[in-house]
Amino acid sequence: VQSPCPYPAGEALALEHISHDFDTVTAAEDINLNVEPEELVCLLGPSGCGKTTLLRFAAGLERPQHGRVRIGEQLMSDSQSSTWTPPEQRQVGLVFQDAVLFPHLSVLENVCFGLPKLSAKEREQRARALLAQLGLAPFAESFPHVLSGGQQQRVALARALAPSPRIMLLDEPFSGLDARLRDRIRDDTLHLLKRNGTATLLVTHDPEEALFMADRIAVMRNGRIIQQGRPTEIYCHPIDPFVVRFFGDVNELQGVVANGRVETPVGPVEAQHLPEGSQAQVLIRPEALRVEQRSGPRDHTGSHVLMSRLLGGASFIHLCVHQGNDEFHMHAHIPGVYLPERDDPIDVHLDASQAFVFPL
Ligand code: ATP
Repeated sequence: VQSPCPYPAGEALALEHISHDFDTVTAAEDINLNVEPEELVCLLGPSGCGKTTLLRFAAGLERPQHGRVRIGEQLMSDSQSSTWTPPEQRQVGLVFQDAVLFPHLSVLENVCFGLPKLSAKEREQRARALLAQLGLAPFAESFPHVLSGGQQQRVALARALAPSPRIMLLDEPFSGLDARLRDRIRDDTLHLLKRNGTATLLVTHDPEEALFMADRIAVMRNGRIIQQGRPTEIYCHPIDPFVVRFFGDVNELQGVVANGRVETPVGPVEAQHLPEGSQAQVLIRPEALRVEQRSGPRDHTGSHVLMSRLLGGASFIHLCVHQGNDEFHMHAHIPGVYLPERDDPIDVHLDASQAFVFPL
């Protein structure tokens, strides 16, 4: 179970110039995406942007109108020729949102199911080793209906991994689970995939999941990949407002570029990449704002608190800030428990690395 990836040569998966329309909807437009051996790539994007369609092309559940699909060195489908490998011959592991287990087979039998080429003893050894890695050893003889949703999903993962697939294709496998269980299963799944060196393409609409799981994220919108990179690249250097907004709440302001910067009510933001005098939009993440309580009474040109609430690991503060005669409302996320009162006077500081300027 712990042997390194048996398919080290070339990419594990390559989608090349894939385009596909469903009637009037463009589900894929000249998509180029590869997954390297042992790499976990996340397809991240809003509902309907074409993530599942790409995964189905990789699995062979659908045939793209244009482009090629390779798995390892092998061409699986090519719109220019009749080349076509059916799903069962692609050596891919598939897991969907809802675990589809055989109800009349035990957990162990479910996991053994995909291993017809091994002897009964080897099958059982491999299945038990995977179940143990996922904390399911005590349930090996149980039937699926007695397992929780999370346990069933782990069995589905073990079953998909058992035959050492060339690539795992996971479509929102955690989204049916409640929040606490989801975090745990994500962690266990990541550990298992890395331990087995399994190349993986994971579809998700959850940006936190992508940041946590991915070695590389491909952000999709309207059938196109608009940005690809390591999680820190995508989060810290988003290429457009859509990508910034996709990662959560954001303060949106506007201004004019002057001396290579845009002035905002919480301080200047560098904008040397934009022409002088042009209109710009500034997107400031709530965690970019640091708040310091000011002593003394509230003065009418200073910033003050409108509301504060606890988020969990951080506190949410709704602020009122001023620029000239104008008043702006902004959101700040402060690590830890910090709950100033309404109307408390405050100073607001900006961490400009989490502020992004784009042309308007
Ligand atoms: P979700 O997260 O909601 O599953 P997605 O990003 O996975 O969304 P897809 O399921 O790939 O998106 O769908 C992309 C677009 O193609 C959508 O507009 C969808 O309605 C359309 N579509 C997908 N499959 C078909 C089909 N078989 N027939 C017609 N339209 C389809």
